[in-house]
Amino acid sequence: MKITKKIVLEEKDMPTQWYNIVADMSVKPQPMLHPQTRQPLTMADLTPLFSEESARQELSTERFIDIPDQVRDLYRIWRPTPLVRASGLEKALDTPAKIYFKNESISPVGSHKLNSAIPQAYYCHEQGIRHMTTETGAGQWGSALSIACRHFGLDLTVFMVNSSYEQKPYRKSVMRTYGANVIPSPSPVTKVGRELRERFPNTAGSLGMAISEAIEIAQQQPDTRYGIGSTMSHVCLHQTIIGEEARKQLEIAGDWPDIVIGCFGGGSNFSGIAFPFMRDTLCEGKKIRFIAAEPEACPKLTQGKFEYDFGDTEGLTPLIPMYTLGHDFEPAAIHAGGLRYHGAGAVVSQLMKDGTMEAVDINQLDSFKAGILFSQVEGIIPAPESTHAIYATIQEALRCKEEGKEKTILFCLSGHGLIDMASYDRYFAGELNK
Ligand SMILES: *Cc1c(COP(=O)(O)O)cnc(C)c1O
Repeated sequence: MKITKKIVLEEKDMPTQWYNIVADMSVKPQPMLHPQTRQPLTMADLTPLFSEESARQELSTERFIDIPDQVRDLYRIWRPTPLVRASGLEKALDTPAKIYFKNESISPVGSHKLNSAIPQAYYCHEQGIRHMTTETGAGQWGSALSIACRHFGLDLTVFMVNSSYEQKPYRKSVMRTYGANVIPSPSPVTKVGRELRERFPNTAGSLGMAISEAIEIAQQQPDTRYGIGSTMSHVCLHQTIIGEEARKQLEIAGDWPDIVIGCFGGGSNFSGIAFPFMRDTLCEGKKIRFIAAEPEACPKLTQGKFEYDFGDTEGLTPLIPMYTLGHDFEPAAIHAGGLRYHGAGAVVSQLMKDGTMEAVDINQLDSFKAGILFSQVEGIIPAPESTHAIYATIQEALRCKEEGKEKTILFCLSGHGLIDMASYDRYFAGELNK
C-alpha cells in the first residue's frame, strides 16, 4: 500500500485559537519578578515594553485564546503547513518507526518565527504604536519581524549581533528588503551599547547585549514597543498553531505520536509542536515522550540551574524562573545561532522540572551529519538549528529498530538552511569542532 506523503489541511480548517498550556498545569510556573522591587510582574510593568494584548497574554491563564482575523489572513500566505511523512528517512534508517515532520520551513522567511512576529506586530498596530525594536542573532527572528512590521506599516529597528552582521550578510539583506533598519550590536546608538563597547572593545556581540539595546530604546520612546522572538509565554502561545494543526493532520492520517521532538533555543518551536499534545498528557494522562534537542555548547536544560535569572546581559529584563547557564554565559560560536541562548522560557522550565518533558544534548558535528542525510533523502536542507531535532529523531528511530517497536515520532522542522550554506561549507571543509 502506498503511504500518503503529505497530509495537507485546507485553509478553512486552520485552527482559530492558540492553546495556553498554563491553564492545564497543576504546578503553575513561578511568576516573573520585577528586577528592582523583586515583586511579581504586573500588567503595568509589562505594558511599557510590550503591547497591551501581548502583556495580557503573557499573564493569562485562559485555556484557549482567539487568533484575530487579521492575523489569520496573513497566516494564510503559507499556513496551514504540511505534515510530511519522512518516508525517505524511514527507509534510509530501515526503521519500523513512523516518522512525521511538521514543515515550518515553508514560511516566507523560512522558519516558524513568523507565527509570533505577525501577532506581535498586529497588537502594536491595533494600539496605535508606530515603531518596534528587537534583537536578532543569526537573523531569523529579525527577518520575521521585519516583514510582519511592514504588513502593518510599523517602523522596525533591529539590533543584530555584530559577529552575525559580519558573517551572515544575506539575512541582513532580507531585513533591509522588508524595510527594517539594521544596526550591528553593541552599537553607539544606545547608552548600554556605548558602555559595552568601552568595556569590551573587541566583542563579537551577543544576543544578551542586543536585547539590552533594543529594550533601552523601547523604554525611552512612548510610541515604541519591543518584539521578542522566543522564551516568553506569549511567544510560545502563538507557536501552538504548529501543534494544533499537527493534531488535526495526524487525526486525518489515523495516527498519534508516541514521541514529539523539537530543537531548543529559548523553546518556542518546541513549545509550538509539543504543548497541544501535552494537553492530552496533562488532562487525560496519555503517555507521550517530549524531547527537547539542545546543542552541547549551550546545554541549559540538562546542565543549567533552575533559578531566577535575567534574560539579557545587563539585567534590564524581569527576573525569570528558568533553567539557565547564567545571564553572562557566552556560548561557543556554534553554527546553530538560534540555539545560542543562555536560558529557557518559564513555562517550559516548569514542565522540565516537573518531568513532563526531557532534553538531550547534541554536538554540532552529529547534527550536521544528520542534516545532510535528511537533505539527501527528503530533499529539504534543514536550518542548522533544526538538524538537532533531526538527530534526536534518528536516535529514537534507531532505538525502535533495536527494540523492534513500531512507534510514531513527530518532529518540528523549524526552518530551512538555504541562507546558512556557509555553515554547511565549513562543515564540509572540516572547520567545525564539537
Ligand atoms: C530561532 C530558531 C530556533 C530556536 O528558537 P526556539 O525559540 O527555541 O524555537 C530554531 N530553529 C530555527 C529555524 C530558528 O530560526
